Amino acid sequence: MGDHHVHLHPHGAYDGVGPEPGTYPDGFLDSFVEHGLAKGADEIGFTEHLYRCHESAEVLGQWWENAEYPDLATLTAEHVALERVLSLDRYVAVVTDAKDRGLPVLLGLEVDFFPQTIEAVLGLLDRYPFDFLIGSTHWVREWGFDLPSQLYEFDRRGVRESYEDYFAIETELAASGTVDVLAHTDVVKKLGKRLPEPPTDLHEELAAAAGRSGVAIEVSTAGLYQPANEMYPHPDLLTRFHAHDVPITISSDAHRPHETGRDRDLAIELARSVGYRERVTFFQRKRQSVPL
Ligand SMILES: [Zn+2]
Ligand SMILES: [Zn+2]
Repeated sequence: MGDHHVHLHPHGAYDGVGPEPGTYPDGFLDSFVEHGLAKGADEIGFTEHLYRCHESAEVLGQWWENAEYPDLATLTAEHVALERVLSLDRYVAVVTDAKDRGLPVLLGLEVDFFPQTIEAVLGLLDRYPFDFLIGSTHWVREWGFDLPSQLYEFDRRGVRESYEDYFAIETELAASGTVDVLAHTDVVKKLGKRLPEPPTDLHEELAAAAGRSGVAIEVSTAGLYQPANEMYPHPDLLTRFHAHDVPITISSDAHRPHETGRDRDLAIELARSVGYRERVTFFQRKRQSVPL
């Protein structure tokens, strides 16, 4: 039983806890593995954020440019400048070293999806020996909808239109066949802006697209620690993924060692409740089913 979504560095300005961003002292990665194993995970899939690595600057480009909302573009530009403090080469070397030392780890990456740059991104990633790629929508064009500083946009745009904008891109990602797993498939709810009823039409389109392309999705406990106070995906969406034979991974989206593998029993319970009996793992971009 794995945890297939783990970061080695938290977001935001360095708070003095743990190593400085982009540094990996001896035993640091190992502490994530130890916490994960203690909670019942048997392999840890590291998935650092591509956009936080300076090597991504050229291929991702400045997606907030030519913005419809210059205020959001400014906030996103500031966020990326603050957060782009990691090195992809160094991250890959650290995880590869852990593998070579015999630790039960996988080399993954959390890839931000922008339709206009995904091909260039995949060209960059081809040079690295990834076991799996997870794909994420964190931005609707210039709008970083899961950043508290940009929460006000839900009110300007309206919650339903915000969800439609998010699910349109997430569904395009699902259909693209470019990644192995879709991360936090309804993360638009993260900051607590909800519709009165689950958007079943948007859920169905996403689940059907994932079913057609063959991509997996994750059952993630990270939303339990956000204003949404709910796992990703919502049970209605997970039920639809199951109906379309979309496989799952279990994930924590940890950014600190003690968060690795947390609440995985709840994720497994949710998955089983809608009918899942297997989850998948990866090795060198090849997928394998194992019992849940
Ligand atoms: Zn994410
Ligand atoms: Zn993540």
